[in-house]
Amino acid sequence: MRRNRSRTAWLTVGLLAVAVRLVVPQAGDPKLTEVWEPVPAVVDPGGPGKAPSDAVVLFDGRDLSEWRGKDGDAPWTVGDGAMTVAAGTGDIVTRRAFGDAQVHLEWRTPSVVRGVSQERGNSGVFLMERYEVQVLDSYENPTYANGQAASVYKQFMPLVNVARPPGVWQTYDIVFGAPRFKADGALDRPATLTVLHNGVLVQNHVTLEGATTYIGKPSYSRHAGKAPLMLQDHGNPVSFRNIWVREL
Ligand code: MG
Repeated sequence: MRRNRSRTAWLTVGLLAVAVRLVVPQAGDPKLTEVWEPVPAVVDPGGPGKAPSDAVVLFDGRDLSEWRGKDGDAPWTVGDGAMTVAAGTGDIVTRRAFGDAQVHLEWRTPSVVRGVSQERGNSGVFLMERYEVQVLDSYENPTYANGQAASVYKQFMPLVNVARPPGVWQTYDIVFGAPRFKADGALDRPATLTVLHNGVLVQNHVTLEGATTYIGKPSYSRHAGKAPLMLQDHGNPVSFRNIWVREL
């Protein structure tokens, strides 16, 4: 009985609040906080295997014309809509240079598992040729956490391990804020990275300590405002497909 009474009381309070809201107008004009101009550009978002309409397509499965190797044309192999590391031929870089950017790419480590730890399906996506988001077969493959797939190599481990099994395509969606340097070469603003691995947030706007380095502490040294995207030849036949960039 008492419970019913208190419920009725609360219901009354609620109804009164709604009634007051309807009768007493809110102060001010809602139109004052509406923004009508400028209008965001219309972009076709694309979809699986298709880039957004305002993206620079760097690999659509057909050829490596957007890429070069250390001695000219990119020497990696192309087939079945993918490009694959030709072990020992070296890293490849884009012919175009980018600064702040959104990057999408898909990668696949070999279905035949060879090696352990860092020797299994190792490659890497280097923003501005310097800042590596690690590519590795991290499916039941223990290694140091800040060197597993989706780590910012030797700087930030991924928030979670969402690796798919070897031989299965995986996605990276990366938002990169390029570093800025002062006229005297000193760092003005460090680089930032956000990464989604297979659609799951794994790097949440981390602030980089400097260029990726295998040994020792990372540090910054001044470089151009734009630089190529680089994919790593770490001796494993890792494949890539559907690579596109939106400059920000
Ligand atoms: Mg690597």
